[in-house]
Amino acid sequence: MSGQTLTQSTLNPEQALRREVVPAGEPWMTELRKGQTLRILDLEGNQAADTLFYSLERPTVEHYSAIGTIRAQGNVYLTTGTRLMSNQGNAMLTITADTCGRHDTLGGACAAESNQVRYALEKKPMHSCRDNFLTAIQDSDYGLTKRDIHSNINFFMNVPLTPDGGLTFEDGISDAGKYVEMRAEMDVIVLVSNCPQLNNPCNAYNPTPVEMIIWDA
Ligand SMILES: [Zn+2]
Repeated sequence: MSGQTLTQSTLNPEQALRREVVPAGEPWMTELRKGQTLRILDLEGNQAADTLFYSLERPTVEHYSAIGTIRAQGNVYLTTGTRLMSNQGNAMLTITADTCGRHDTLGGACAAESNQVRYALEKKPMHSCRDNFLTAIQDSDYGLTKRDIHSNINFFMNVPLTPDGGLTFEDGISDAGKYVEMRAEMDVIVLVSNCPQLNNPCNAYNPTPVEMIIWDA
C-alpha cells in the first residue's frame, strides 16, 4: 500500500446524528441529505460493505456509476478525494476521510450465480449480497426493482488488478476500527449489503458487523 495517503476524520462520533450497527450479513438502507456525512466503520476488521447509491429525487433514473467514477478519477480504486459519480455525470458523494486506503469498484456483489461459478454448485442457496440488495429494495417504497441493481462499490474490499489485467480476491487490508467517510453532494439513498460471503478471503471467511455513523452538515 505504499504511496497511499490515509486521511483521518475530524468528526466526533459523539456529535453524530445517528449511529447504527449492521449485523454480519445483513442489508441496510437509508437516506442521506445533501451535506450529511456517512462513516462506514469496520468494527472487527476484514469486512466488505457492498454499496449502491441512488438519487433520492429520481432513484430509477440516476444512480451510482462505477464507469463514470473510474473515468472521472482516472483510477479504479477509491480513497479520500474520490467523487462518486452518477450515470448522469453528477457527483453524488465525495470521500472525505479514509483510514483503510483501498476500496474496490470492479469486483461486484456476490450472488447465487457467481458463488456457483467461482466456488461450487452446492453454494447456490448461500446468502449473498445480491439477495440482500433485492430484499432491501423490495421492502422499500422507492419503486426500485431488480433492474436497478447496478455495479456496486465494495468498501474495504481488496481486489487488486493484476499486471495482465485480471482481478484477484485478496485477503482484506482493512482492520478493526478502520473507516471510510463520505459527504453527500445531493440527496441520496444508500443501500448496503454487509457481505455474508463465506467462500473468499475478502472478509476472512467470517462476516462481521459494521457501524454506520451519520453527521449533519
Ligand atoms: Zn457479498
